[in-house]
Amino acid sequence: MNQFHDRKSYMAEAPVASGYLTIDLQALRRNYALLARTAAPARAAGVVKANAYGLGAREVSQALLAEGCRDFFVAEFVEALALKPHLPQDARLYVLNGLQPGNEAICAQAGIIPVANSLRHLERWIAAAAGAQQRLAVVLQFDTGMSRLGIAPEERANVCAILADAPVEVMFIMSHLACADEASNPQNAGQLAEMRRAAGEFSDYPLCFANSGGIFLGSDYHGALVRSGIALYGGAPTMGVANPMEPVVRLDIAVIQTRTVPEGTRIGYGGAHVAPAEMCLATIAAGYADGLPRSLSNRGAVWFDGKRLPIVGRVSMDSIIVDASALPEGALDLGALVEMIGPSQTLEDVAEAAGTISYEILTGLGARYRRKYL
Ligand SMILES: *Cc1c(COP(=O)(O)O)cnc(C)c1O
Repeated sequence: MNQFHDRKSYMAEAPVASGYLTIDLQALRRNYALLARTAAPARAAGVVKANAYGLGAREVSQALLAEGCRDFFVAEFVEALALKPHLPQDARLYVLNGLQPGNEAICAQAGIIPVANSLRHLERWIAAAAGAQQRLAVVLQFDTGMSRLGIAPEERANVCAILADAPVEVMFIMSHLACADEASNPQNAGQLAEMRRAAGEFSDYPLCFANSGGIFLGSDYHGALVRSGIALYGGAPTMGVANPMEPVVRLDIAVIQTRTVPEGTRIGYGGAHVAPAEMCLATIAAGYADGLPRSLSNRGAVWFDGKRLPIVGRVSMDSIIVDASALPEGALDLGALVEMIGPSQTLEDVAEAAGTISYEILTGLGARYRRKYL
């Protein structure tokens, strides 16, 4: 006999979860359609790196495929290898960070397209193509002013020389905007000017330039293929203006205990909050291990029945404590679900309270939530 329990006997039904992450794939599809319309005649790719910003790379890609998307970007080669079998033959999958030395052969075999971010990347990929006696596709990234990844302007002449007769097919020349979410930041125009100089030197190849924010900077920034991530997932592409995207994520977390405490009671780790008067507290079943940043300690809130319940004390690993005094007695009971992200409080609201950006909140969403796809 197996020393372990027969899993089937107690896993037949999914247990009640402590947190529910609801991902609206229909809203995601409408967001894609809006971005594709805005970027047309450029094609719109889906950026599904970091497990599609925490929402599930496979599920998100399937939804984008259904909406006509055929270009997908991940950051790391391991992500590409995991996703590739779930994409149809006619879809293209690109690796933004390029390849670690040694991954060229397997990448070529898998039909995955690396971004060459440096001459070293490009040379290794050309060598792999020569070795395989194959013409291999590649995207060339140029640095136009972010100084993160890409071939520097003064290296572009070398690239021309290296590419002559090389057995690679350049799909796009690409660059990335550092300030695309700030519509009036002059760095955008500076990067566009540098991108145009690069385009002049490599006039045979189409351009791939705009991220979510870049799509809303206007058609000058669109090139032939745009790469949208955050806006697909409902995040705001541009700061300081109304968000044109539909929310995609909803996060509801269960109450695990309620109590009333007298004035002067210390609350949570370090006694970092002291009740200024009698208070109703509710302990909620998610903490920093679930992606609620510790910077939400004594900041931010959850919502229930139209009422804002401020977070009091420090965020723990597995729980937070909220002030439920605004609710009638007994309104919050064991098992009730409070809203962390949803109609009362957007992803951006939570990010702002935590002193971070929507990207970090999404990609941090924990593995313990039950994910539900609509
Ligand atoms: C992450 C990333 C994107 C997507 O950016 P969003 O702002 O989420 O649209 C596009 N291009 C590159 C190079 C990236 O790293």
